[in-house]
Amino acid sequence: ASRRHAAVARDLIATLAATVEEHKQRLGEIDAVAGDGDHGIGMSRGSRAALEAAESAVSSGGGVGSVLSAAGAAFGDRAGGTSGILWGLVLDTVGDGLGNQEPVNLGRLAEAVRAATTRVQTFGRAELGDKTMLDALCPFADALEQATDTALTLPEAWRAAAESCAKAAEATAPMVPKVGRARPLADRSLGTPDPGAVSLALIVAAIGERLDQ
Ligand code: ADP
Ligand code: MG
Ligand code: MG
Repeated sequence: ASRRHAAVARDLIATLAATVEEHKQRLGEIDAVAGDGDHGIGMSRGSRAALEAAESAVSSGGGVGSVLSAAGAAFGDRAGGTSGILWGLVLDTVGDGLGNQEPVNLGRLAEAVRAATTRVQTFGRAELGDKTMLDALCPFADALEQATDTALTLPEAWRAAAESCAKAAEATAPMVPKVGRARPLADRSLGTPDPGAVSLALIVAAIGERLDQ
């Protein structure tokens, strides 16, 4: 089970990287409205490095936790922006939470995603409503947790949580940014959703589509 989970983790990092590549230009455009326009480029650099690291971790026999943590370290190193550091923390924390021994299930995944959310909040010091990726990540974590009390399978729960995440990302459009590079030009971003929230929603939706293939 451990080797299969590691290979699944690698495939999901590949999905993440392909999704970023597909939307790279639009993510840059959204970030250029009030930020510095590099969100697509940074996420692309980070996710390609993450995929290389995940592939070598799988080749050297790493379990799911090692694969995700290696991907996170590479993401944070190579992306070169705030969101890259935060994505690095997310992948690393989910990897730590899942570990290499126990099989992955919905309860353990929900706990790991909650821990990643807490780490993003502690590190980035953003509050809910500050117009950051946290505004999409928190509802995603909430929805996964809520699903643990239902009969939903892991892929079903992930897809339901991905829908909450997409709605939450869209709901950042009328918010005024309180942290990050978009703050000085905050009012310009009214009507445009937060780039980091949008990329998160696109990525979790794409992963949801792949989950039970
Ligand atoms: P940079 O802002 O360094 O150019 P990116 O453009 O790649 O990096 O990422 C910008 C995104 O990072 C924002 O849209 C927001 O979602 C996220 N972000 C920025 N600062 C924070 C923070 N303190 N906490 C959470 N997310 C943040
Ligand atoms: Mg930027
Ligand atoms: Mg930048």
